[in-house]
Amino acid sequence: MPGYELFDERERKEVAEVMETGVLMRYGFKGVRAGRWKAKEMEDAIRERAGVKHALLLADGTAALTTALAALGVGGGDEVIMPTFTFVASFESIMAAGAIPILADVDDTLCLAPEAVLKAITPRTKVVMPVHMCGVAADMDALREICESRGLFLVEDVCQAFGASYKGTFLGGLGNVGCYSFDFNKIVTCGEGGAVVTNDEELYKRADMYHDHGHDHGHDDRGAEGHPFPGYNYRVSELHAAVGCAQISKLDGFVTRSRQSKKYFKDALAELPDLTFRRLPDPEGDCGTFLCFFMPDESRARAAASALKEAGAEGVFHWYDNNWHYVRNWRHFKERHFANPVASSLLTAMPDYSKADFSASDRWMSRCVSISIKLGWTEEEAAAKAQIAVKAVKSAL
Ligand SMILES: *Cc1c(COP(=O)(O)O)cnc(C)c1O
Repeated sequence: MPGYELFDERERKEVAEVMETGVLMRYGFKGVRAGRWKAKEMEDAIRERAGVKHALLLADGTAALTTALAALGVGGGDEVIMPTFTFVASFESIMAAGAIPILADVDDTLCLAPEAVLKAITPRTKVVMPVHMCGVAADMDALREICESRGLFLVEDVCQAFGASYKGTFLGGLGNVGCYSFDFNKIVTCGEGGAVVTNDEELYKRADMYHDHGHDHGHDDRGAEGHPFPGYNYRVSELHAAVGCAQISKLDGFVTRSRQSKKYFKDALAELPDLTFRRLPDPEGDCGTFLCFFMPDESRARAAASALKEAGAEGVFHWYDNNWHYVRNWRHFKERHFANPVASSLLTAMPDYSKADFSASDRWMSRCVSISIKLGWTEEEAAAKAQIAVKAVKSAL
């Protein structure tokens, strides 16, 4: 999956161009930067790919989520609905904005279950934040309809699905705001990087200011700029943006390759009885980074993951046992072990997750196994690996 598998002279050339001038900052230094604006260039490319009016490149995907919430004016006392299967960055970014993370179950799409969202809504709910996990869109028709009818903001976490679409729309452009990650393990990588996209100009301006200490970016002289409100430093560097410029130009190739390789695995595993695949709300839009399937029960899922690993497969996940992506092992969060005291108003308002019942999520997650599709594989390698995978999974059924 990760774009670093296919680094070549293009990334090196882009980085070298930045080092020729030595201007590593995205703002200012006009006289000495020889017309090179890598962050701006990548923002243009993101806007074009996503078909949105505004894109802000910043330090990472977690910063993108926090910035999106801050720009929406979401914070103290507000509830944000997020799924139980995601990366820890979801609750981290919500808490960083001062808001209350409200966890809701996932279904066989491995994304937010619309009926779980409906149950989680309260008068304090401001945002629904679906996470398009493992390269595939959530059930966006249902989630959009909920947000529209209840007057809630829709923030898409597209950190794992840059390149995927839903019924023809590039993910990130379906809600009020979309957030991407270009960290080292994502399909398009900057090393570290993220982006906020939106069609709302006012929202973009607020995000732009928030991610850079409140700078209104209205001057050539940074020192003379105004600061309508304080922000933070979530800026990206030109070096990171340069890597991203090369990577984003390869996106179509990445997606084609991933989908091709994934098809070998899916076709091969489809022949096994008692195994079912994750439901894809829009199969056409899948960017192909993972194949996810359900074994008949938890013990056979664990056995399949072990057999795959023993057969030499890399990137095999039984998410139920994973420390970072599923609520079951988020002990630090559930038992409230925070680095520094969290505002008591937030602690009081937050549900007691040590007692929460996520058995509806467990039902899917305990049986789910995912295989990560590598970009570096040739077609022959993918075909051969798919055959090895089938044998391993079969042994566990
Ligand atoms: C990677 C990821 C993030 C965070 O992105 P970073 O760039 O690593 O901060 C957020 N959400 C999901 C679902 C992710 O996979």
